[in-house]
Amino acid sequence: MTEASIFTRILQGDIPAEIVAETDRVFVIRDINPKAPVHLLAIPKTGEYRDVTELAAGDPGLLAELVEVASDAAARFSDGDFRLVFNTGAGAGQTVFHVHAHVLAGGLSEASLGG
Ligand code: AMP
Repeated sequence: MTEASIFTRILQGDIPAEIVAETDRVFVIRDINPKAPVHLLAIPKTGEYRDVTELAAGDPGLLAELVEVASDAAARFSDGDFRLVFNTGAGAGQTVFHVHAHVLAGGLSEASLGG
């Protein structure tokens, strides 16, 4: 059996964190090391998908729910505009291999990826 991820341990109450939003299948916490004025993590409760590519292939409905929950949280904690980041693979900065979306919001227009 693989070890429970840090997010599963948060969900189980073994590691303290404030769950700021929740549905049957997804929960949202504040990132402990925020990189934006609003930095949330939207996380499927199941730990069976390592990254967004596995989630998209294995349960696209859950991925859609994750995006909806992220959007709702961005509306609640900021002005509704947000950036959704899925680090995928260690080389891209992924450190927790339990798929999660970084929801970044609040004053990001200066740091746009676009032109
Ligand atoms: P990633 O590097 O994309 O895998 O993202 C993992 C994220 O989890 C990082 O941004 C960490 O700051 C965050 N993180 C790690 N431990 C905790 C924790 N106990 N509570 C909230 N966020 C955490």
